[in-house]
Amino acid sequence: MASSQQKKRILVTGGAGYIGSNTVLQLADAGYEVVVVDNLSYGRREAVDPRILRVFDLHDTEALVALFQAEPCDAVIHFAAFISVGESMKLPEIYFDNNVGASLSLFTAMLRTGVKHLVFSSTAAVYGLPESSPISEDLPYAPINPYGESKVMVEKILGWLDRAHGLRHVCLRYFNASGADPEGRAGEMHNPETHLIPLLFRAIQTGKPVDVFGDDYPTPDGTCVRDYIHVSDLAQAHILAVESLLGGAPSNKFNVGTGTGFSVLEVIRAVESVTGKQVPHRISPRRAGDPPALVADSNKLQSTLGWKPRLGELKDIVSTAWNFAQKHSK
Ligand code: UDP
Repeated sequence: MASSQQKKRILVTGGAGYIGSNTVLQLADAGYEVVVVDNLSYGRREAVDPRILRVFDLHDTEALVALFQAEPCDAVIHFAAFISVGESMKLPEIYFDNNVGASLSLFTAMLRTGVKHLVFSSTAAVYGLPESSPISEDLPYAPINPYGESKVMVEKILGWLDRAHGLRHVCLRYFNASGADPEGRAGEMHNPETHLIPLLFRAIQTGKPVDVFGDDYPTPDGTCVRDYIHVSDLAQAHILAVESLLGGAPSNKFNVGTGTGFSVLEVIRAVESVTGKQVPHRISPRRAGDPPALVADSNKLQSTLGWKPRLGELKDIVSTAWNFAQKHSK
């Protein structure tokens, strides 16, 4: 934990988004000074303290250089990106421009001002459709959509920037981020919403059935299995990663998941048990590009950075998410 005399300043890009805003809160709780850059294309202004929010686009290298000069940063946590797999299939050029081009602008500004530590939001989508599960970090890159490809590209760019300029970085490959800040300060609110748990809450609230995408997968109950990781535990992984870099650790890549998978039907049952309400749902065709099971092997993160999920139970994820959803539904 940083003491007040030696407060470190961290730039968080995309800090008005779901995972970013949760991480900003935890960084502040841990004694860091934080500055957020977000263009608010998807981020929510109200998710960030206005005193620390700088609204501009990461393509603006000069604005980033000016910010690093005015408010020197010890490290950057880079969340800002587009995240919709389906959209990336239709508009790959937008994904490469926003996720790769803007990242390169950020890295250029960091190199110009001597900021040499970065934590990067990567994804399990870099593995594509892995044949084995749980997934460890040494599986090869095999993305099957432009979103995953854009993250692979940035991981590779970072490898070369480390080699050429000593830009030390940690890539965190997220599995299914879910849940909300236990104090209800930040949570998941995408527009449009595509993620399972908020959609299950919506089905309860509207009475309109949610589609379960396929029940004929080779999994115990036929529905897809995912590794749901609480957003607060995910945020904690970023803090540990920043601390490791500031402590002189080399660049690294880690999966962030609990190691336990739950099927769509199991998530529905957990939501019914936490909320005490039925989730109207119907079995629908498979969604294109959904692997049957994606579960992380996160032993490397646990043994290298000492990370441990604290809210690893599905009921913790669902209850924090439900509290947040109720607070924010009209
Ligand atoms: N899912 C579903 N119905 C929905 C949304 C999602 O059955 O309306 C399933 C989806 O097929 C996947 C799991 O829920 O197996 C998690 O999907 P989500 O979009 O939340 O995250 P992803 O795994 O795509 O990152």
